[in-house]
Amino acid sequence: MLPSSSKPTVIIIGRPNVGKSTLFNRLVGKRLALVDDQPGVTRDRRFGDATIAGLDFQVVDTAGWEDEDAESLPGRMRKQTEVSLEGADAAMFVFDSRVGLTPLDEEIARWLREQEVPVVLVANKAEGSQGDAGIFESFELGFGEPAAISAEHGEGIADLFDHLWPIIGAKAEAADIEAEIDEEDEEALLAGPLKLAIVGRPNAGKSTLINRLLGEDRLLTGPEAGITRDSIAVDWEWRDPRDGEMRDIRLIDTAGMRKKAQVTDKLERLSVADARRAVDFAEVVVLLLDATRGLESQDLKIANMVLEEGRALMIAINKWDVAEGASALFNGIREALNEGLAQVRGLPLFAVSAKTGKGLDQMLCAAFELRAAWSRRVPTAALNRWFDDALEANPPPAPKGKRIKLRYITQASVRPPRFVVFGTRLDMLPKSYERYLVNGIRDKLGFEAVPVRVVLKAPK
Ligand code: GDP
Ligand code: GDP
Repeated sequence: MLPSSSKPTVIIIGRPNVGKSTLFNRLVGKRLALVDDQPGVTRDRRFGDATIAGLDFQVVDTAGWEDEDAESLPGRMRKQTEVSLEGADAAMFVFDSRVGLTPLDEEIARWLREQEVPVVLVANKAEGSQGDAGIFESFELGFGEPAAISAEHGEGIADLFDHLWPIIGAKAEAADIEAEIDEEDEEALLAGPLKLAIVGRPNAGKSTLINRLLGEDRLLTGPEAGITRDSIAVDWEWRDPRDGEMRDIRLIDTAGMRKKAQVTDKLERLSVADARRAVDFAEVVVLLLDATRGLESQDLKIANMVLEEGRALMIAINKWDVAEGASALFNGIREALNEGLAQVRGLPLFAVSAKTGKGLDQMLCAAFELRAAWSRRVPTAALNRWFDDALEANPPPAPKGKRIKLRYITQASVRPPRFVVFGTRLDMLPKSYERYLVNGIRDKLGFEAVPVRVVLKAPK
């Protein structure tokens, strides 16, 4: 088994004495391995972090796997190499260009052609044009033009880069992105207080709701919308009914952000601006609707803005105590949301009453769950499994006979979840296919109610 790493892995293969260890040392930059003129000096299989001009990969040295009298491809080497090849993204097949091809080189080549791994042919010891004849001869192996290098003198490494980049470049870039994210600690993200904003149109009941939650008349409320309040954020502890534990919540009050004495029609327009400011502070946003008015276009405008800002959104229908035709109202709002908000499906929707307290605990439980989904990182293996299945079930189209290649996917960030898909000819990928991927991520990987971003990227 290769060490687990999302970096691409390149294995160095070749008969004894062609310079595999020397190349390994050159790439890893440390003189770790034993180098010896005696073929078959026992060395352990070694892994190293290699880098060529910013292309990072893991390199595996197979030197020392050979048996003493290596007339033919030795069984032990073959076995070990096969094991390593399973996880490899490319093989560097090294030969000695000054010696030219030997029967053993040809045997290894035959065997390599049967493997699935892409092969980069490497003509070593090519310093001072001493390998020209061997290089010419090597074309007959069928692996294309070799990268002509001198591992010992450090020549031709740029040529090697040019050969490797098309094969492992995309995966190396994906690994770079992943390495950045791994530094963020998911648990730390969920340890802080839940930053919750209550947004909505004037008179939806935001202040009443916040007062209800806090259990005291901290904020002024009244039929007259937009009365002055001081605080923007209130830290508060809520007892979670699921386990009786106290949880920290930072409530962000949009109504409190507003200056007093605004005229009502202005307030109406300001509700979007208020929400926008609150969203800056929030992780989860509750859009409060007024059951006596239903879902109006202004509400959809606010909801879309919250999603565009990448926040986790939930909807609470307030004043349920005075709602008429409750179930028809609820279902109607559910349908209108699915229609009006293309980015998400099945947003958490609650019937609440700020006046009586109905539905508020359920709403807060859901808010914590929504934050967890919004902060979630899909394990790389699960993500790749889904990606492979999705491409197989519905392969990308081939405009003008040229197939668009999608190679890797990686989750580039959380909160909101953002994914990067690497491939070629991405400018020809239809929007409908992009939507297919977004929908798949949403439905199959547990991101139904959170805004998901997908970015397409061609390797540099
Ligand atoms: P391995 O058995 O394939 O791992 O080969 P080694 O790395 O141990 O190298 C075998 C011999 O070839 C050593 O004496 C190296 O110094 C020599 N060698 C390796 N690379 C080069 C090169 O680029 N040019 C020359 N002239 N000699 C090399
Ligand atoms: P805001 O502008 O969104 O902050 O709304 P307010 O909290 O000031 O509430 C506007 C009006 O709706 C006030 O008269 C509240 O008493 C009333 N209200 C708020 N919540 C409820 C509720 O759950 N049920 C009923 N029946 N009235 C409510």
